[in-house]
Parts: sequence; structure tokens; C-alpha cells
Amino acid sequence: MNQNKKIQKHTDLIIIGAGPAGLTAAQYGSRAGLDVMVLEQLAPGGQALLIDVLENYPGIAPGKSGYEFCQDLYIQAENFGVSFLMEQVLSIECGEPLFYITLASGAILSANALILATGAKHRNLDVPGENEFTGKGVSYCASCDGPFFKNKKIIAVGGGDSACVEAQFLSRLTSQVILIHRRDRFRAQKAVAEQVLNNPNIEVRFNTIIKEIRGKQKLESVILETSKMNEKSSYEEAADAVFVFTGIVPESSLVPDAKKDEAGFIITDQYMASSIPGLFVAGDVRSSPFRQVVVATGEGAIAAHSASAYIDALKGNSY
Ligand code: NAP
Repeated sequence: MNQNKKIQKHTDLIIIGAGPAGLTAAQYGSRAGLDVMVLEQLAPGGQALLIDVLENYPGIAPGKSGYEFCQDLYIQAENFGVSFLMEQVLSIECGEPLFYITLASGAILSANALILATGAKHRNLDVPGENEFTGKGVSYCASCDGPFFKNKKIIAVGGGDSACVEAQFLSRLTSQVILIHRRDRFRAQKAVAEQVLNNPNIEVRFNTIIKEIRGKQKLESVILETSKMNEKSSYEEAADAVFVFTGIVPESSLVPDAKKDEAGFIITDQYMASSIPGLFVAGDVRSSPFRQVVVATGEGAIAAHSASAYIDALKGNSY
């Protein structure tokens, strides 16, 4: 640590990211008696804000919107004494035993322990026309942009939970949804996939990929390629919009030295402890076999519990 830099504030525990994992970690940390600060560059809630209806969170029937759910988590954390700072984190220095966090404003914060709950962002298709027509027909968020394409023809791409859940959302806006997937079966949970296959407003085309997105002022068509028995055929399909749901990329670049899996998600043990002492990880940025809101909140609770034990040991407290 450059000793000339001035530490603006010291906190027991800093949590980066205010999605379900970070907000849950915050309330658990605060209830454990820690001084907790959450740093978030956008609004509290993260990707979960985009969930139309959170229908599979245990104990919440018949479900509520992602926005309402995150707002409740935020209020709960605030009520338990958590402080929030809406600023972008530029870098993290792991200077055992303290962490130093540099913010976009230039301020430096220090903490005894850190929980990274930065989540993930969408993966691009990387085909010609994608960047050019983003915002002019290409979208990554059904609840944000779907209403612009009411009764229009929409191509959705992907075969996971997001593609199936979002295609269902889009099918309530138009009867012309074509869901294309590169393989011959969905990766999504069976119950969600079945709903799509039985939805009269969604036509599913397996073994199909997008090669190009075309248009003039706005998106007008796509070039699709279908494989059948090792034979490929390409054709142009008129469309008003392309919604891309091809998975997520972890926001893990702030900790280049932490151990990660081949896709860049951070590896932890069952205590949510990363390979860096004092750095705990929760939510979508963590290497995990199953990403759900309920999993993220559970991981947040474990991470806070572990961080609390770590800080106690650091301070020589024993209870
Ligand atoms: P995902 O499960 O990784 O699925 C991504 C899909 O996109 C896969 O079907 C993949 O095909 C396809 N794909 C990837 N790259 C592609 C490319 N370049 N071109 C064409 N297709 C491509 O991602 P996700 O659906 O965004 O879900 C992310 C996590 O959030 C998952 O753990 C999921 O369970 C969770 N989630 C849960 C819910 C829910 O429970 N309600 C809702 C949304 C998300 P392959 O199948 O061939 O690999």
C-alpha cells in the first residue's frame, strides 16, 4: 500500500455489489455486530431488478417482482444499520491483513474483510450487426425492451433458464416469438422448458444459430443457419427484434489473483472463502452449479457468517 495515500474511512466489512447476495450478506454482517458498508455502482438490486415475477423464491407466494423483492432486501439491510455508497470500485488491493479499495472518486477505503458479490453481465452473440443494431432491435433484457415490440416478430436466442423464462415473457406481448437454440435440447430446468414447448406463441427452432443481423435504420432481418444430419442450410428470416439470452460472464476482474474456474467465476470453499485470505464471494460471480436468487441469498448469509468469524480471529476475539 502506498503510504502517501490517505484512507478516507475504515470499515470492518465491505461488500461490493448490492444484488440479492450482497444485500443479504450486508444484513447478516450487520446483525453479527459488524460495521458494514455496501458499495454499488448502479441501483441496489443488480440483475434481479429485471425479473418480471420472482415465482420460485420459497415462501413468497404467488411471487413478487424482482424490483419489489430487492427493494425489501435493501430496506431490511438499511434497518439493520448497513451503510451504502453508490460509487464505482476501480481497484482492490489485498494488503494482508487489510483490504484497500480505491473508488472512482479517488477516495480509498479500508476493511478487515471483503465480500465480492459483483454478479455477472450478459454474454454477446458476437455476430455481424449485433453491435450496430443494439438499441435498434437487438436487446438483452425482455422486461426493459419487450414492450417496444408488442405484436411484432421477435427472435429470441439461447437454451438456458434465461432464454426460456424471457421467451415466455415476450410471448405475452406478441404471438410471433421464434426461440432459436444451437443444440437439439434445452439446458433450462425441465419445468421451464416444458412451458416453452407448450406455448402456442413460441416457435422453437433447435440446431439453429444466428449468422448475421441485418437492417437499415433499424433491424429488419437475420440470417439463420440450421444443421440437419450434418447438413447446414442458411436462410433469411424477417424480424423486428432479436433478444439475446446466451448466458453470463462473471464480473470478477477486480480480483485478478483469486483462483477462478475456466469461465472466470471465482472458486470458493463451502464457507464462501476464496483463495485470498479475508476475501469471501457470493452470488453469480462465484463458481457454482446452480444460479438462482435463493442460492445467491444463501451464499450471502454464509459469506457474512464466515467474514464475521474471520474478523473475530483477526482481532483476537473469541466467544
Ligand atoms: P446458461 O444457463 O449458461 O445458458 C446459456 C444458453 O445460451 C445455453 O443454452 C447455451 O447453449 C447458449 N449459448 C451460449 N453461447 C452461445 C452462443 N454464442 N450462441 C448461441 N447460443 C449460445 O445462461 P442463462 O440462461 O443466462 O442462466 C444463467 C444462470 O442463471 C443459470 O445458472 C440459470 O439457471 C440461472 N437462471 C435461473 C432462472 C430461474 O430459475 N428462474 C432464470 C434465469 C437464469 P448450450 O446449451 O449449447 O451451452
